[in-house]
Amino acid sequence: MISSSTPHPDSPATTRLMVDLAALAANWVTMRDHSGQARCGAAVKADAYGTGADHAAPRLLREGCRDFFVADATEGARLSPLLPGARIYVLNGVFEGSFATILAHDLIPVINSPEQAAFWRASSSGRPYTLQVDTGMNRLGLTPEQAVAHAQDGGPQPCLVMSHLACADDPGHALNAHQIKIFEGLAACFPGIEASLANSGGIHLGASAHHQLTRPGIALYGGEPVNGVQNRMRPVVTAEARVLVVRHAKAGQSVSYGAAHVLARDSRIAVCGVGYADGFHRAGSGAGVPLRRAVAEGAFGAIEGVRVPVIGKITMDLTMFDVTDLPDGAVKPGDWIELLGPTINVEDAAGAAGTISYELLTSLGRRYGRSYVS
Ligand SMILES: *Cc1c(COP(=O)(O)O)cnc(C)c1O
Repeated sequence: MISSSTPHPDSPATTRLMVDLAALAANWVTMRDHSGQARCGAAVKADAYGTGADHAAPRLLREGCRDFFVADATEGARLSPLLPGARIYVLNGVFEGSFATILAHDLIPVINSPEQAAFWRASSSGRPYTLQVDTGMNRLGLTPEQAVAHAQDGGPQPCLVMSHLACADDPGHALNAHQIKIFEGLAACFPGIEASLANSGGIHLGASAHHQLTRPGIALYGGEPVNGVQNRMRPVVTAEARVLVVRHAKAGQSVSYGAAHVLARDSRIAVCGVGYADGFHRAGSGAGVPLRRAVAEGAFGAIEGVRVPVIGKITMDLTMFDVTDLPDGAVKPGDWIELLGPTINVEDAAGAAGTISYELLTSLGRRYGRSYVS
């Protein structure tokens, strides 16, 4: 079943995004099954990693998820009416400007500093909160010493103690074992209180990282939880762009801004209605364009499962693909070219632009005609 804003052949959109909610649910079940004895939650911050939290979060609720992590109170307020009976944790914590919103929607702030702890305990009349401890990331959370003091100071205690792993996507990294050990000791200082450590990568570190609640994000949306391991998550997002014009150009002519790409052969070029304003990052411009150091190849598109390279610089609203190697007539104006999806894995698409799946998904623009398949 396809719902909402499905672009049909005469849709005005030049980009379209299909979100497979069944794949999302299946990925959550996979993460839940890998979480051992722990409950499995879901990180749905940043509009569920760009997939559309209004659709993704209720689908996960239906699958049995009851613990949702958002970045700020605004995201939580938007989701709370859609998630009856669920707990919604606000990762960035609480400050004066967000306090009323957190109370009004029964959100659970993640307390990230002694100042936030003092503020919440003084103002919230004993409402539940989560305490974050920084075990090695130097981002958010009390130091382990501050957390121990908090546990013993006689004040209202949290409903959940959590920490975040810095290197969970790299199972061999020594910091994992270090953080797991420190967190183990801390959790013991909060007897009877649930603990949570693992993100997607952390779930794969095994039982010592699971505690009572896991918090996968990227794996749910089809990203690879562990670096360098074949991505076994189901693709959730398919992004496509419409071919606007197919043009012929001669060897020796150049393509796009800066004349950075000079054609080595007579070429057929598919000009497509997607650009960096849609989150098709300029750093993915074609081979030979001097924007990237580490990666020689640029981004690819796919037509009927065949990969075709970007040529020249990606522009704001338009990108050129070299379709010379496809049979004449195989690409016509109006056709759709896949940018990421079943043929082009989200990790490969991100890597081609020198970034990670997280950034690629969360920067997909607002112009896509979106549809949700369930
Ligand atoms: C984003 C986030 C997660 C989810 O991380 P993934 O790597 O996407 O699985 C979990 N916990 C915290 C604190 C986060 O910020």
